[in-house]
Amino acid sequence: MADELIIRGGTVVSASGRRRADVAIVGGRIEAVAEVLPGSADAREIDATGLLVLPGVVDVHTHTRVATDAQPDRFFQDSIAAAYGGTTTFLCFNNPGTGVSSEGGSLLADMHEWRSRTEGDSAVDYSLSLVLTADHPDPSLDLPAVIDAGIPTIKVFMIYDFGVSDAVLLRALDSAARYGGMLEVHCENRTLLESNTRRLLDEGRSAPRYHAESRPQPVEAEGVHRAIRYAQSVRAPLFVVHLSSAEALEQVRWGRDHDLPVFAETCPHYLALDESRYKLPDDEAARFVISPPLRTPTDRDALWAGLADGSLALVATDHVPDRVAVEKQTWRESFDRISNGAPGIETLLAVVYSEGVQRGRITVERMVDLLSATPARLFGLNRKGSIESGRDADIVLFDPQERRTITQAELHHTSDYTPYEGMAASGIARSVLVRGEFVIRDGRFVGRRGFGRFQERQLTWR
Ligand code: MN
Ligand code: MN
Repeated sequence: MADELIIRGGTVVSASGRRRADVAIVGGRIEAVAEVLPGSADAREIDATGLLVLPGVVDVHTHTRVATDAQPDRFFQDSIAAAYGGTTTFLCFNNPGTGVSSEGGSLLADMHEWRSRTEGDSAVDYSLSLVLTADHPDPSLDLPAVIDAGIPTIKVFMIYDFGVSDAVLLRALDSAARYGGMLEVHCENRTLLESNTRRLLDEGRSAPRYHAESRPQPVEAEGVHRAIRYAQSVRAPLFVVHLSSAEALEQVRWGRDHDLPVFAETCPHYLALDESRYKLPDDEAARFVISPPLRTPTDRDALWAGLADGSLALVATDHVPDRVAVEKQTWRESFDRISNGAPGIETLLAVVYSEGVQRGRITVERMVDLLSATPARLFGLNRKGSIESGRDADIVLFDPQERRTITQAELHHTSDYTPYEGMAASGIARSVLVRGEFVIRDGRFVGRRGFGRFQERQLTWR
């Protein structure tokens, strides 16, 4: 066929196995996967000998900023960064700080605004999870409409000024469950957090290092347990975002042991870094002010065990493209004023492969499950997440032999630092295809602005 592309001789990896195989792509979709595919006169061919042929990474947790007059390229630029890292679809939130925010109107209006502000900007495929804030009217009013419109995942926060009350959280869980959606919850206990913060500030302990002390494990674990109990009460599925600690993981295990549809993600920073970063000088410690905070090496190991045994569903970045020179400067005021988060949209595959697969903590098949197959399935990206006939040809040609050092100078994201500076990494995404088109080819961006398509989603597993 005229537009056929054949990827030959690579090792094709799925969540359940790996095999040497050829992959044929026609019209942006995977046409066939077989040990040896016949050639044809007009098919283009790529030699993938020695490479892993992975499904594109699906990052379900980013706070990618939309374009503004002052920074017209920031959404586009972070989408390029995603592509370099092997991420072919990323999901965004429209929470305050991302450059587009609710005026207290409807979720449906928020969806239209975000879609118009990002239209034609992305180099890879993308989608949205809406944030339901305290300013929105009763969630049962327009949750059904946004789920119908292809946004079945909605996020709420249990803390922050835009977080919702327990009563709203419960109603939103109920409403999402009734209409085929799923709530994503930032789980922390507001009372404990605010009390700890006030005490630390009263004692004059306001430096970035005290961020972690304001959020010890019970703050997170209680929030996770409460969200699970609310979900259980209304028979709702629950997605726990950015799980960071062993105690919170125990709560998720409790839910899963009770056959509840509770799913949790963790993030690369909890898997690769630990709380020792808060002992760095203030301006460096501020780079690691992320919520929940970095934990102990024991927690880190518990999270890896949770990924390996299936207690944790997936890994996503919680990408926040804050800059040390700008947003992070508020460390000079006090730890509770520091913009929370760290960039990660470009380094997800690198960190999970290097720290997970290369170190023997998970298999490469499990990595594919955690980064592609499960995020695509759970979030209703039903044409994404695996290399099989009929799916979108979102593919990473990954060279596992490469050895490199992660450094800001070589990244493409809109932040001015990486939390993984100096980290030794194994493997690299040599080439990346989205719907059969090269976006990265031999390490160079060859895609274009606006090629990425907004993905309307449906949770068919529900
Ligand atoms: Mn959060
Ligand atoms: Mn987040």
